[in-house]
Amino acid sequence: MNALVWRGTAVAVTKVPRPGRAAGRALIDVAYAGICGTDLHICDGTHPRARPGLVIGHEFAGRLAEPVDGLEAGTPVTVEPLLWCGRCAACRHGMRHVCDRLRMVGIDEPGAAAEQVSVPAELLIPLPAGLDLRHGAFVEPLAVAVHAVRRSRLRLGEVVAVVGAGPIGLAVAICARLAGASEVLVAETAPARRDLARRLGFTVVDTVDLAARRQAGEPTCDVLLDATGAAPVAAGFAGWVNPGGRIVLVGVHSLPAPVDLQRLTFSEIEVIGTRVYLREDLEVAIRLIATGAADPEPLLTWTVPLSAAAGAIDLLRDGSQVKVLIEVGR
Ligand SMILES: [Zn+2]
Ligand SMILES: [Zn+2]
Repeated sequence: MNALVWRGTAVAVTKVPRPGRAAGRALIDVAYAGICGTDLHICDGTHPRARPGLVIGHEFAGRLAEPVDGLEAGTPVTVEPLLWCGRCAACRHGMRHVCDRLRMVGIDEPGAAAEQVSVPAELLIPLPAGLDLRHGAFVEPLAVAVHAVRRSRLRLGEVVAVVGAGPIGLAVAICARLAGASEVLVAETAPARRDLARRLGFTVVDTVDLAARRQAGEPTCDVLLDATGAAPVAAGFAGWVNPGGRIVLVGVHSLPAPVDLQRLTFSEIEVIGTRVYLREDLEVAIRLIATGAADPEPLLTWTVPLSAAAGAIDLLRDGSQVKVLIEVGR
């Protein structure tokens, strides 16, 4: 079958063997797979766990290729792509999403940018009949946003700032509005993403404006969600939040970053870490899409066939696109 494979230097569509049948696993005919920042890290060779020969793709939707666990062949599904160890303290204490040895489909096992993918059957999440499978492929990134906003303890009427208007940042902004923010400020530098944020009804700002407002003693935001993981954001964000506010880390900082701890202390600002999602967050994301409460459509800015997927990776680098989907089937 055809698959998008990271070969250690470049990514290419390559013939690979179909996944075999195995006890306890489910075989999925992939319909759509999303590409995200993690995939860019893999293709840059900067992901610490990915090994050459990897089929990428951890956010996807498709249909069961054969019956499993009482679900019929053809059932539309997405998956919780997390592979936890089940033995560490986090796993034993109901926190398997922060497992010490957390692994992921599409990073540590062959992923879904391929005609078929095999996953542990317990990871399957059936999708409502009739849900657009393009939207089904956005359940995973939306669940990241659901998890982050729930972790923020956002209260009705609070002002939220989101730094970064990629797919995760915009999904966070959408979820913050749904969760009761009175205003959602979005800081982003890429023009196409700023335009989209504005079209979605968010107030586009620059982080220097937040800093200036704080220095003038004016309110800025009660909750700031950092969807960049960029060191300059960490260097500044303590100065962009109202006293008593919360800063939620959504993007991954791969290196230690200097943070103004004095400002966090003097203003009693909380910093909250987040990692992926719980099963519940994925189920909430599906409900938000199925009911129309959250519409992924404006964020799905480009869809390419699997045959052209290698070039799609580059489309993501300059910030001109938001979510790029690979269409494998339908
Ligand atoms: Zn991702
Ligand atoms: Zn574990």
